[in-house]
Amino acid sequence: MSMHETKSWPAGQGTMLPASMESWNHKHILDLDDFSREEIDLVFEIADGMVEILARDVKKVPTLRGKTIATMFFEPSTRTRASFELAAKYLGADTVSLDAAKSSVAKGESLIDSLRTLQALQVDTIIIRHPCSGAPYLAAKHLETKIINAGDGCHAHPSQGLLDIYTMRKQLGDLSGRKLVIIGDIMHSRVARSNLWGTRNFDIKVILCAPPALIPYGLKQWTENCGLHHVSIEHDLDTAIEGADIVMPLRLQKERQQSGLISSMREYIRLYQVNDARLSRAKPGAIIMHPGPMNEGIEINHDVAYGKRSLIEQQVTNGVAIRMALLYLIAGGKIR
Ligand code: ASP
Repeated sequence: MSMHETKSWPAGQGTMLPASMESWNHKHILDLDDFSREEIDLVFEIADGMVEILARDVKKVPTLRGKTIATMFFEPSTRTRASFELAAKYLGADTVSLDAAKSSVAKGESLIDSLRTLQALQVDTIIIRHPCSGAPYLAAKHLETKIINAGDGCHAHPSQGLLDIYTMRKQLGDLSGRKLVIIGDIMHSRVARSNLWGTRNFDIKVILCAPPALIPYGLKQWTENCGLHHVSIEHDLDTAIEGADIVMPLRLQKERQQSGLISSMREYIRLYQVNDARLSRAKPGAIIMHPGPMNEGIEINHDVAYGKRSLIEQQVTNGVAIRMALLYLIAGGKIR
């Protein structure tokens, strides 16, 4: 059966899902740098089926019945954690949610020992968020259990990248020739980085716009070395936003910043806030996206955040479908 042929949702729930997972090649989900276009298309195809389940009165299927999924978050989170946990429950899995501050890590246990404990408890998949870049990679190296990265330091946030691209595709259709502008704290943004990797096979142009101090040193060289030829850097927002199809401001991540990166908040707002005047330079049908949480009045003003072009709440809703698709592939998948 080819990848595009479909069959009924397992256990006869009637939802159409791809029958074949031939293109799928992941035991863990750590970032999007190793995702092929076919794999991303597969995730989106499965997510379309999940959207159908989410529209039902009873949002529950038994696909992951008997599987146990743990979340272990060492940083605050609302959307990512809630949507992974709901995704697991909607698929019928049992869930355990560990608050790192209240776990044995707070008593001095190492990260790996804590994760090994979950493994010994027969957890099938661990979803981890950690302030240190690379922590989920370390976990994947030391454990047999499957690992999903829910955000590691400034490095990667693959499920966010996927839900962002899925939302763009649903709204705009084909992304070929489109222009995406990502604005603000690029330096600390794992969301920006995962979006760069995720969009590389979509024939889309990505412009990163920020003051020089919020662009990582050597970024241009890095994009060239990585073959991310669709990415460019622009410091002037009025220039960057001209003719944009997708406008994505980012939160200033004060918790990760050393002091002195921006000269004053007033100046930053004047030069980099996305407001109606700025948006008038984008394409008439341009969409607004934001990974959340928003700092309203700083990187985005109220009218833009809640205006008719805003897909910010849609991103949150789509996040559940994308995470259901990822759990279906990882927790229920063929790769052990
Ligand atoms: N929620 C996103 C993240 O965890 C973006 C942010 O925190 O600003 O990376």
